[in-house]
Amino acid sequence: MRKTVTIVLSFLLIATFLAGASLAGDTLADVKAKGVLVAGVKDSLPPFGYVDAKTRTIVGYDIDFVKAIANKLGVKVELKPVTSATRMPQLQEGNIDIIAATMTKNPERAKVIDFSHTYFLTGQKFLTKTGTVKSLKDLEGKKIGTTKGSTSEQNAKKAIPSATILSFDDYPQGVLALTQGKVVAVTTDESILAGLLAKLPKGAYEIPDIRISDEPYGLGIRKGDTNFLNFVNQTILEMEKSGEAAKIFDRWFGPDSDTPLKRNFTITADK
Ligand code: GLU
Repeated sequence: MRKTVTIVLSFLLIATFLAGASLAGDTLADVKAKGVLVAGVKDSLPPFGYVDAKTRTIVGYDIDFVKAIANKLGVKVELKPVTSATRMPQLQEGNIDIIAATMTKNPERAKVIDFSHTYFLTGQKFLTKTGTVKSLKDLEGKKIGTTKGSTSEQNAKKAIPSATILSFDDYPQGVLALTQGKVVAVTTDESILAGLLAKLPKGAYEIPDIRISDEPYGLGIRKGDTNFLNFVNQTILEMEKSGEAAKIFDRWFGPDSDTPLKRNFTITADK
């Protein structure tokens, strides 16, 4: 009798464990089985994720990382546009397998999802009409545009409490407000502003040297999805070692690009 009870109890224990494991999910196994990696990406933010005029496909720095991960898995890529506000819910609801969308890692977000090692590093600045803003003081009491659900929105509120922050669905809408004189600045990561500036009339706008935060980007993965997180981290560390990561940076931010920036980071394991 005691033996039967022990067997039943062991069975129950194993069943409970398996149920728990499947709840946490194993994206690595799922993606291999379905043969496609579904990535949530930006589609209007050159050079991270935008629609190429010739090929009409989404290309960019974030896309190249997703492609490298899919390549290593031997699966296809499906790109799904997300916004700053929708990217985490999309991941949690299972509509995408990974976020590669200019997303800053921070402790608040890390309570909800897991992040890869940092694969890009930038900081928050402002895009303004040339000569109008020299310091944060010039922004006090003014209207500033940014995007809903971004760290840019939170940082701006903290850095300039007297300003009115207008949050749009995406950054190009903020730039439209800037060109129409509805805001005096658009604020977000310097690397994103560089892409927005490149599309504006030369000399009319600038990014003054006012930096209010550090923004390390991570690839977003469902909480507790350890196998997939390890795979992604291993892949991007290998890309750093082989020089592929630096090559991707150079493709989008090199001296011949529209958005020349210095590579002020290397991909290393988080401490
Ligand atoms: N990197 C910042 C963030 O994750 C701003 C860019 C964005 O909105 O995606 O919130």
